[in-house]
Amino acid sequence: MNKPTKKEIINSLNLQKEIFGDELFIPKKKRATTLVKEPTSVFEEPALFPEEKEDWEKAKSLNEFENIICSCTKCRLHSGRNKFVFGTGNPNADVLVIGEGPGAEEDKQGLPFVGRAGKLLTDMLKAIKFEREEVYIGNVVKCRPPENRTPLPDEMDTCMPYLKKQVELIKPKLILCLGLTAAKGLLKKRESLGELRKSVYEYEGAKVIVTYHPAALLRNPHWKKDCWEDLKKFRKMYEEI
Ligand code: URA
Repeated sequence: MNKPTKKEIINSLNLQKEIFGDELFIPKKKRATTLVKEPTSVFEEPALFPEEKEDWEKAKSLNEFENIICSCTKCRLHSGRNKFVFGTGNPNADVLVIGEGPGAEEDKQGLPFVGRAGKLLTDMLKAIKFEREEVYIGNVVKCRPPENRTPLPDEMDTCMPYLKKQVELIKPKLILCLGLTAAKGLLKKRESLGELRKSVYEYEGAKVIVTYHPAALLRNPHWKKDCWEDLKKFRKMYEEI
C-alpha cells in the first residue's frame, strides 16, 4: 500500500478541519493515514458524536443522584407509586444487598425492606454479624409494581442503569442478590435460582452471590437451611476480602 504524500495528508486534514473544526479526529480502528483512502469512513464513526450524558449519570454522590432521579417517569411503574424507593444504608458500604422492588410498606415509607420480608432480612444480616446500617440495601426497580407482581423485563431494563450507577458510587466489594429477579436483573442470567446459588459472580468489580428472597423464605421456611449455608459462605467471603 502506497504511503500518502504530504500533500494528500494536508488535504485530508484541511477537509477534516472544514467539517469538524479544530478537533483532530482519529478513527478507532483505522490509523489516520487510511483517512486519505477512505475519507467517508469518518461519517460512520460513532465516537465522533458521543451522546450527551443525562444529569443523573454525572452525579457525584448518592444524595445528588437520588435528588435527580426521585421523580423519574421513565417506565409505567411511576404512575402507581406513592414513594420512590431509592435505597438506604452506608454510602461507603463494602456490602450491597439487592432485592426485587418495593412492596406496599416500602412504597408507603420510601424505604427498602421495611415490611415483613424486611424484618426477616434484618435478622438474616444479624445472623452473619451485619447491622442494617453498615450495609447498603437497594432494589432492581425503584417503584412498586402493581399488586406486588414481578417487575417486567422492560421495567427492569429501564431501572437497571440506576442500580449500576449506585454500584459505581458505593463501590461495594460484595453483593448479595436476594431471589431470582435480583439475580436476573444484575447478572443477566437465565439459570434457575438453584443453579445460580452454586457460583460466585462478578459485577463491576464486586463479587456476587445469590440466595433466596426473604419473602420466599416466609412462604417456604424449609428453604432457610440452604439460605443459611449461602449466608455463611457470604460472611466467609467478606472476611477474606
Ligand atoms: N421485597 C423486595 O424485593 N424489596 C423490598 O424493598 C421489599 C420487599
